[in-house]
Amino acid sequence: MSDIHANLVALDAVLRALDAGEPVDEIWHLGDVVGYGPDPDGVAGRLASLGARGVRGNHDAAACGGPEIDWFNPDARRAMEWTRRTISDTTRSWLAALPEQSTTGDFTLVHGSPLDPTWEYVTSGPVASANLAALGAQGGRHGLHGHTHVPAAWRVKDGRVAFSSPVHHPVQALDDGPALLNPGSVGQPRDGDPRAAFAILDTGAATIEWRRAAYDIPAVQAAMTAAGLPRWLITRLAAGQ
Ligand code: ZN
Repeated sequence: MSDIHANLVALDAVLRALDAGEPVDEIWHLGDVVGYGPDPDGVAGRLASLGARGVRGNHDAAACGGPEIDWFNPDARRAMEWTRRTISDTTRSWLAALPEQSTTGDFTLVHGSPLDPTWEYVTSGPVASANLAALGAQGGRHGLHGHTHVPAAWRVKDGRVAFSSPVHHPVQALDDGPALLNPGSVGQPRDGDPRAAFAILDTGAATIEWRRAAYDIPAVQAAMTAAGLPRWLITRLAAGQ
C-alpha cells in the first residue's frame, strides 16, 4: 500500500478487507504515511504494530523537519505545518527511521521512482522506460512505488514500454522482465475512485491484484474540519481527485 496520508479510517478498511481474504504474510508500504490527513500518529502506530516494511515519502521527510516542505503547494504546506505540530516524538522517530529505498527478493520499494526515490512521478513512458532500465542495475526485478496516487503498471513488452491499467486488468502476471507497479493511494486516491486503493502481491503464483475498499469518508472529513485542515484537501476525498 502507498500514500496512506494520515487516513486511519481508510487504512483500517484496507486491513479489514485483507482480514476477509487469504492471510497476507507482510504489509509493505511505499511512503507518504503522513501529510494531508487527520491522524498521523494513528497511522504510524498501526503500521508499527503490524511490523510493516516500508520507505520514506516526501511528506514523511517533511514531517521530520526536512526542506521538502518548501516544494509543497500552499494547502499541502499548511497541512504539513499542522502535521509537524501534531505528531508525537514516537511518530517522528519512526518516520525518521524509514529508508529511502528497500529491496527484498525481486522487489525494490520506493516512494517516487527507483531513480529518484523521493520525488520523481512515474507518469509517462520515457520516465517509466528510464526507471525500468535502472531496476535491472539495482538488483530488483520489480519496482513498487506510489507518489502519483494513481494505480498503474508499466513494463517492457516486445522492446517497448507498455502501460496497462489496473482498472481494466486488476490481476496481472509478474513477468520475468522488470515492471513498475503502483498500488494507488490508500488515504487520498486521485484516479476518480474515492475508495482506498491497495494491491496484493502473490509471490507464489507470481501475480499482483489491485483492490479497492470503501471507507467512511464523511467521518474523515469531519476529523479534518475539526483539525482546521485546508478545505480542498477535505472535499477532494469524496471525489477521489
Ligand atoms: Zn502522496
